[in-house]
Amino acid sequence: MGYRDLPQLVDVRGNMIRNGAYSKRSWSQITDIARHHSVSTGNDGRDISGWHANDNGWPSIGYHFVILEDGTIEWTNSVNRIGYHVGNNNTPLIGVCSIGNGSFTQAQEDSWEDLVKAIRETDGLDQISISDVKGHNEYPGHATNGCPGINMDTVRSRLRGGSGGSSSGPPKYGPNNESFASYHDDKWMVKKDSYLESQQLLNRVEDAGLDEDGILGQNTLNATRDFHDKYNISKRGANFYGVPGPATLKKLRELDNDDGSGDNPAPKSGEGIVDYLNRIGVDSSYNNRKSMAESHGITNYSGTASQNTKLLELVSGSGTRGKSSNPPANSGEGIVDYMNRIGMDSSYDNRKDLAENTYGISNYTGTASQNNDLLNELSG
Ligand SMILES: [Zn+2]
Repeated sequence: MGYRDLPQLVDVRGNMIRNGAYSKRSWSQITDIARHHSVSTGNDGRDISGWHANDNGWPSIGYHFVILEDGTIEWTNSVNRIGYHVGNNNTPLIGVCSIGNGSFTQAQEDSWEDLVKAIRETDGLDQISISDVKGHNEYPGHATNGCPGINMDTVRSRLRGGSGGSSSGPPKYGPNNESFASYHDDKWMVKKDSYLESQQLLNRVEDAGLDEDGILGQNTLNATRDFHDKYNISKRGANFYGVPGPATLKKLRELDNDDGSGDNPAPKSGEGIVDYLNRIGVDSSYNNRKSMAESHGITNYSGTASQNTKLLELVSGSGTRGKSSNPPANSGEGIVDYMNRIGMDSSYDNRKDLAENTYGISNYTGTASQNNDLLNELSG
């Protein structure tokens, strides 16, 4: 067991902006883990690699790991490279940067603890004790630096709390002192399931050619980023960019269920099926209409007015356009209860993601009217 086995770890080393390579070191030279914050929100390792490589002129990103706000751990730089992150102290350090400015999500703190424990469990890195886990401003010459934006005594005491101190023996995870495997299986099962479904759907809908293994690896991340770009689900730098979360799944399921009719424009007011088909460049002959009708489940098509109206609805998607496939909300039901009932993640972060990135509800802060809008969108 080591850091490479963490289920929330994504190897993005190949996706970093580079000027060159950092110097090599042997693992036996490594003694410490140094914690940093990005003094920014909504960024990822690639953004930081741009600041470090382009703005600072460094070889690439100075940190070895970056922890995103949703708890994803990005592996950004090989551990056998000496990154730049604490001035003259870098040679023995592993640099870990949490995205944030002195304020971090619970998912990030969980992942930070997971990462430190997993590094300390990695063969060849088990010389690192919890007292060797330090903040940027605990190193000589850096005392006035605001980084890492968190009290490291608290951080170390939390690390000791989960593992019974810096004693030997395998670390334990979670409030019940579980083994790594059982703790993470429970904690990440939901994600593994949704990653697997995303891979299956990306393969069907986008012909992505992904391994269907439920692991958020580089190929799945890249395919999901392309998908986010294509359907404007999130943008580079957003928290969930490239993560196959609920908004991604919803769009994928929609496309997977789509027979293609939804891509056609809406009919004009009073427009009949023949005029409509002519306008969008589709053969409007009786024979073609009959075959389209039958493929849409209209039996015994003979061109009656009601059959033509139904066919127009089906071909243009006007009968179902914009409707959600979720069940209706119960009377008086709030957004959180509704999402919980239909099995969606009702956390504030996910609601904000859906509101802003899927439904165009800008500056979501969870007001009653925003929640009402979101409920209406979700429940159709
Ligand atoms: Zn720092």
